[in-house]
Amino acid sequence: QLPCTVRDLSEAAGVPARDIQRILMEEGVMATINTPMDPELTEFVAAELGMDVDFLQPETLEDKVLRRLDEIEDDEKDLQDRPPVITFLGHVDHGKTSLLDKLIGIDVASGESGGITQHIRAYQIEKGDKKISFVDTPGHEAFTAMRARGANVTDIAVIVVAADDGVMPQTEEAISHARAADVPIVVALNKMDLPGADPMKAMTGLSQNGLQPSEWGGDVEVVKTSAATGEGLDELLDTILTVAELHEYKANPNRSAIGVCLEATQDADQGVQAKMIVETGTLRIGDIVVCGDAYGRVRSMSNTLDKHQKMDEAGPTATVNLTGFDVAPPAGERFYVLDDVAQAREIAEARAHQTRSEFLGQTGYQHVTLETLFD
Ligand code: GDP
Ligand code: MG
Repeated sequence: QLPCTVRDLSEAAGVPARDIQRILMEEGVMATINTPMDPELTEFVAAELGMDVDFLQPETLEDKVLRRLDEIEDDEKDLQDRPPVITFLGHVDHGKTSLLDKLIGIDVASGESGGITQHIRAYQIEKGDKKISFVDTPGHEAFTAMRARGANVTDIAVIVVAADDGVMPQTEEAISHARAADVPIVVALNKMDLPGADPMKAMTGLSQNGLQPSEWGGDVEVVKTSAATGEGLDELLDTILTVAELHEYKANPNRSAIGVCLEATQDADQGVQAKMIVETGTLRIGDIVVCGDAYGRVRSMSNTLDKHQKMDEAGPTATVNLTGFDVAPPAGERFYVLDDVAQAREIAEARAHQTRSEFLGQTGYQHVTLETLFD
């Protein structure tokens, strides 16, 4: 709540400022027209003037429009089951990227420079008639950064622990991040194919960190996996689906879409490409979207696994590569679908202006992505 100055009250009440100053003087407050008053004092003065005050929050257009979209409560009857969103977290090199590779049948891990994940990946896969969306991040910094921006896209955290290494410092951090996000935890005890695999030691480490394996009578499912041989991957998916069923994740596909930009690039050849995950509603070609300081109409959408597979619409937790934004939207920022392109532009421009002022004084503007945010 912004303090109300003598001038603000004078203007709002249509009373000369000196009348207000006199009332304040009687209370022993020496005030100029710029003196701020706290709400109690404002109310007192207003009462002396025989008026009531109503404090209104100053709202920007962006606040008003986007908050209203955020606050739409879906009718129970409009809610439908949606695929869960899974994030792999854990110590570097314990196999997050390899597990996801194996699950979707591609090989990204071996092509990564220095074995470190550079990009956020997001895919939706099918297991029987069920879908599961996966997000692989360069590290839990990206997970935390997204949460810091209010984007809680993760439903279930899979903590990946290499069975030969056991619980490491970054595993402990990952566990506390998952706890802070208040999401259910499943453990993938990975690299079970290695001769040095020591599941007892790893599970001891887990229970010391409050994750009691179910085979020891606790409530945390620990699935033994190997991204190398594929062992346990089916069981991992089944476990994820069981946890998901328990939580009954739902969304309303029949409303305007809201989601999160995971990553975006802009170059001369390809234009602006944004990797998005839809949280609720359905995103369609031609929709007017705004995301941070970027806006536009959805020109094309394609599957994040196969860019040749075009999509006309993307429902809850679908992951898409999208074109149509004027500039690259910031990673971790929510996107919204609006009815009015002029309004979308106005919001994006207000945001761009705000961003510029925030960056004022910094040398060398650098586009912030989730990867650079916490570097
Ligand atoms: P991340 O940093 O957690 O994403 O780990 P990566 O997926 O990049 O894996 C790190 C290294 O461990 C790579 O060389 C992988 O080939 C290897 N690796 C991952 N999972 C397994 C596994 O289950 N068994 C074996 N033997 N190696 C694995
Ligand atoms: Mg990785």
